[in-house]
Amino acid sequence: MQKKQIFLCAINNVLSGTCNEDCKFCTQSVRYKAPIERYTYKEESRVLEEARQAAANGALGYCLVTAGKGLDGKTTEYIARLADRLSRELPGLRLIACNGTATPEQLRHLKAHGISSYNHNLETSRHYYPEICSTHSWEERYATCEAAKSAGLSLCTGGIFGMGEEEEDRESLLESIASLQPESVPLNFYIPNPALPIPERTIGREAGLSVIRRMRERMPDLPLLMVAGGREALFSGYEDAMFDAGANAIVIGDYLTTPGESPDRDRQRLQDLGYEVATECHGR
Ligand code: SF4
Repeated sequence: MQKKQIFLCAINNVLSGTCNEDCKFCTQSVRYKAPIERYTYKEESRVLEEARQAAANGALGYCLVTAGKGLDGKTTEYIARLADRLSRELPGLRLIACNGTATPEQLRHLKAHGISSYNHNLETSRHYYPEICSTHSWEERYATCEAAKSAGLSLCTGGIFGMGEEEEDRESLLESIASLQPESVPLNFYIPNPALPIPERTIGREAGLSVIRRMRERMPDLPLLMVAGGREALFSGYEDAMFDAGANAIVIGDYLTTPGESPDRDRQRLQDLGYEVATECHGR
C-alpha cells in the first residue's frame, strides 16, 4: 500500500540573534549569550541562493524568520522585498514569514508582496507562559495569530514541548492551537543549550508521539502537522511512528541556530520507509 505523502519545509534565519526579549528557550536572545552567529538582514542574493538549494532539496514551504519581538517598518520592508524576489524567481515555493508580533496592516503588506502564510507559535500554555518569558505576553501572541488570519494569510502556529511544562499545559496548548484553526501546526521539542536557563528537555519519545497523536485527533483535517525542531533527537529511526501518530510534514535542513539532519539523508530515509515526498502544496 502506498504510504502517505510527506511535505517538506525549510527555514532561513534572515536576521539572527539580536533579540532583547527573554524567552528562556531561545538562543537568539542577547541575554543568554549563546555562542551563535548574530547578524542583521542577510544579503538578498544569499537568501535567494539558499532558497534555491532548499527547493532543489524538495522543500515546498520556505519560511523567512527574523529574531526579535516583532515587525517594525524596516523589517516589514525587508521581508516584503525578499518575498517579491523569491516569488518572482522561485514561483514553486510557498513563502511563509515568521517575524514575531505583527499588526493586520503589516501582515496585509506582506501578503501583497507574496507571503502566503504567517508563522507565530503560541510556544506553551497560557498558564505556563510567564515561566518562560517575562517580556511579552501569551495573549499578544494569540492576538498576532488572529491578526494573520484577519489579514487573509494562512496561519501556521504551534509550540515547543519539553520545557518543564506539566501534562495539563500540553493539553491546554493543543486546545489553544486548535481554537485558532490553523492550516499548519509545527510541533517543536526543546533543544537544550548550556547557555539557556532551561537545563534539559523534559519530554521523551512516547510522550512526544502522544502530543502528535492528540493534535491530530483534535484536528483530523489539519493540512500540515509538522514535526520541527528536536525531531532528530526524539524520532531519529522512529519516523514511521511519528507519521503513524499523524504527522505529515517535517522541516528539512538546519533550524534557526541548530544544525539539522542532511536533507539527502532525510529524503533517502523517507523513500526507504515507503513515503512519497509531496511535490505540490494544497494550502493557500
Ligand atoms: S521573541 Fe523570538 S527571537 Fe526573541 S527571544 Fe523570544 S523567541 Fe527568541
